[in-house]
Amino acid sequence: MGAPEFEQTYAAAVPELSTAWRAAAVSEPRLLIVDGTLIADLGLDAEWFAGPEGLRLLVGDVPDSRPTYAQGYAGHQFGSYSPVLGDGRALLLGEFVARDGVRRDLHLKGSGRTPYARGGDGLAVVGPMLREYLMGVAMQALGIPTTRALAVVATGDLVRRERPLPGAILARVARSHLRVGTVQYAAASGRRDLLRGVADHAIDRHHPAARESDDPYLALLESVARSQASLVAQWMSVGFVHGVMNTDNTTLSGETIDYGPCAFIDVHDPRAVFSSIDHRGRYAYGNQPVIIQWNLARLAEALLPLIGRSPHELDTLEGTTLPEPTEAAVEAATDVLVRVPDLYDETYLPLMARKLGIDAVGAGEDLRGLVTDALGLLSAHHIDHTRFFRALANGAARELFTDPAPFDAWSQRRAAVLLGDAEETAAAMRAVNPHIVPRNHVVEDVLTAATEGDLGPFERVVEALRHPFEDETSVPELAEPAPSTAAPYVTYCGT
Ligand code: AMP
Ligand code: MG
Repeated sequence: MGAPEFEQTYAAAVPELSTAWRAAAVSEPRLLIVDGTLIADLGLDAEWFAGPEGLRLLVGDVPDSRPTYAQGYAGHQFGSYSPVLGDGRALLLGEFVARDGVRRDLHLKGSGRTPYARGGDGLAVVGPMLREYLMGVAMQALGIPTTRALAVVATGDLVRRERPLPGAILARVARSHLRVGTVQYAAASGRRDLLRGVADHAIDRHHPAARESDDPYLALLESVARSQASLVAQWMSVGFVHGVMNTDNTTLSGETIDYGPCAFIDVHDPRAVFSSIDHRGRYAYGNQPVIIQWNLARLAEALLPLIGRSPHELDTLEGTTLPEPTEAAVEAATDVLVRVPDLYDETYLPLMARKLGIDAVGAGEDLRGLVTDALGLLSAHHIDHTRFFRALANGAARELFTDPAPFDAWSQRRAAVLLGDAEETAAAMRAVNPHIVPRNHVVEDVLTAATEGDLGPFERVVEALRHPFEDETSVPELAEPAPSTAAPYVTYCGT
């Protein structure tokens, strides 16, 4: 089989939005880890990737005949707009159609400075790239849409951070790297062909049903809103904090992207923040549903000039500039945005009902209260999120409470709307309530060991995380919150 058959349909569709660019040379590339499971799932050639040609591809050392691209995008970072971000240290190697018939990007992170690098060095280091690898495995196993790391290669070069650290390149597979920020970038160009090019490409690749709508670009907005609302609902259910939900880290595909300062909560706390730079808690755990609505509002603004207009009408306009948004377009887009909480609930409430073993239909209006009150109990009594749900499935949740009275009261309300068969319900709950998640203290320990050259612990944890719903785990620490003596967990950007 050999190398994947690459295409560059995005660069062909909107050439102005990418820059043809080459990876920087590396001293001594060495494969640290490659995901054989993922390679098999995609229908790629595992042997080829493990060989010398595969290694060359994974550091971007490709023949001149094969162009690679840095993609441009804009974005709101912590609420402030940056008109030009883009792949400062990343390259799109190419797109390929995987075994499931779905087109994927293969993209490198840490492959050297690009014209979008601004002050950055274009590089990445081993710890954070392995972290992204591990998180992708964990999220996939939890059944949550995510970009995936195919491999991490050590470059053999030292990278200057607070202290010199071993450099690495991550190879990432994604349904695409289109972001809300990509649409913002196209809209800011003021060019009709570019905004349409991105929107049409996103429709073709991720939201094909929108094409059939009378108002395809409004339908695109709604479909992205649906995917992202559903994604964030799934994050919330497992206690995942993305940490840097900027509009350039919000995909149009609905996959999780850019595992930077992310973390899983131990104690359930809506205010939980881990990122060292998120001083005001903008991206706190409990804020994520509101932030996604905010990000979707930025997408709506960018798409407004196209909304309410058919592709045919847009084709017949004079000149190259974007038309003024109509009032009807503003109204229609606003209507989608105000429904984002409903789109969120469409995933969230049934999912939480499953996690609590509740008959969602039978509970009716009471469902929301039961969910909110359960989570309220966890916060008030400082209970570990993951342990609570798993213990509830195993009939052992009461023991987690020092004072069980409030739990008993809640439990009685729940008893009225429990699903029928107790054993079946418990099994169904175990299938959505993970026994293990990437516990921050364990992740940090294995990354430290890996940075110092011992990948064994990292590999063991990754393999354990592939089976989050099983009762037995090879890494029991992943089932336990950090010891209470541990310092508060802090994650850092500039990875
Ligand atoms: P991120 O926080 O990883 O989503 O990155 C935000 C922006 O900063 C993107 O435009 C990245 O390409 C850029 N960036 C992050 N780190 C570096 C780096 N070391 N060198 C160049 N650009 C970077
Ligand atoms: Mg990013």
